[in-house]
Amino acid sequence: MPNNPFETAKFQLAEAAKIAGLDAKFVARLSRVHRYAEVSIPVIMDNGEQKIFTGFRSQHNNARGPYKGGIRFHERVSLDEIRALSFLMSFKNAVIDVPFGGGKGGVIVSPKNLSEGELERLARGFIKRIYKIIGPDFDVPAPDMNTNGKIMGWMLDEYEKITGVKAPAAFTGKPINLGGSEGREEATGFGGGVILREVLKSGFINFGPEVKIAIQGFGNVAFHLAAAAKTLDLKIVALSDSQGGIYSDRGLEIEEVAKFKKSTGALAGFAGAAAISNEELLASPADVLAPAALENVLTGKNAADIKAKLILEMANGPTAPEADKNFKERGVMVIPDILANSGGVAVSFYEWYQNLHNEKWETATVLKKLDEQMTEAYKAVFATKEKFQTDFRNAAYILAAQRIQEAEKNLNPTAFY
Ligand code: NAD
Repeated sequence: MPNNPFETAKFQLAEAAKIAGLDAKFVARLSRVHRYAEVSIPVIMDNGEQKIFTGFRSQHNNARGPYKGGIRFHERVSLDEIRALSFLMSFKNAVIDVPFGGGKGGVIVSPKNLSEGELERLARGFIKRIYKIIGPDFDVPAPDMNTNGKIMGWMLDEYEKITGVKAPAAFTGKPINLGGSEGREEATGFGGGVILREVLKSGFINFGPEVKIAIQGFGNVAFHLAAAAKTLDLKIVALSDSQGGIYSDRGLEIEEVAKFKKSTGALAGFAGAAAISNEELLASPADVLAPAALENVLTGKNAADIKAKLILEMANGPTAPEADKNFKERGVMVIPDILANSGGVAVSFYEWYQNLHNEKWETATVLKKLDEQMTEAYKAVFATKEKFQTDFRNAAYILAAQRIQEAEKNLNPTAFY
């Protein structure tokens, strides 16, 4: 089984292609990115020395619309990772049916080691190198790991200075006062909640009267998923952060947990809950497991210990192919990341749209639209799953590939078909 992220993504596409009999020439094209750039970004550090950082921007496919995807700052960024993530963005955007293709960017850096000024110079320096290949109607970046609205603000300012035009739609995930959208903060967790609701409604997993959920992570996505789970009457039995987790069979009140974490900086010690490790969290006796922190946490090593009947992939790539195989064999249902966590990019599309049309939507409008869009995406993936008698992951890939292919065919009917 491949362990290079780009190879894993291509392997997944090949699986879907086999099941759906996708056109081999199309699959070969989709297995490559349209283009990528590797850039060097010189930054004068606070001590006067110069450091040269390496950054990438990968543009996988734009048949359905401008390339779209985040920019991450991390010491383990690699070209293959960025290419794989741009590939996944094409599929995610097609599954949720927003008019975007797939892109991704990253800079090799440990941002914790930079001062605020160094971080700003790095962010601006990256845009100096890539401004010609991004833009509101060509490639639209957003925050990702270790980047945020503030950094998008710096990048937007740099982009506008260089191009001489006001272009808020050039970036999404901006602070509200720079054109960011209401509802973006809760979008990914809320969207995961919509998918969870639809799975529960379908009744094809026999959960019994009380449904328990364990959530790995207690960041943005995990918190808002937990809030959504609460409105669905699920019992939240486990939560965690990088230092470990907590478990309570009686259920955890997330507002109380959030207050406790804010005052103590940790989850362990929360009254009435047992301290558990992250490995124990994954194996906790819950009906639903939602990894909402890191990639590759469900592996060949721990897959057999997972007791959940349903895995909702809120993090990107939390399930290694070996674990996926184990889940398939044991009948554990997995809702793939490209469907489960696509609420974030859906609201990024709403942000881009509002910027281009000079509109400002209220939170309730955004969340209502998001609910409808996630429900439609779930239904379309489910119909594909039924048609090809396959699992949710293959179905999501097949649906996305078919949508990309339809766009490509209409754009260029004679070139390849
Ligand atoms: P976040 O930084 O707000 O939260 C991350 C959480 O993971 C924190 O609670 C942190 O303590 C925890 N964590 C870190 N290391 C851990 C470890 N070793 N074990 C267990 N927990 C650990 O990030 P987020 O925005 O909530 O994103 C979470 C995941 O969802 C990421 O994989 C991200 O790529 C993915 N995602 C996020 C969005 C979004 O809109 N924020 C969209 C799609 C996918």
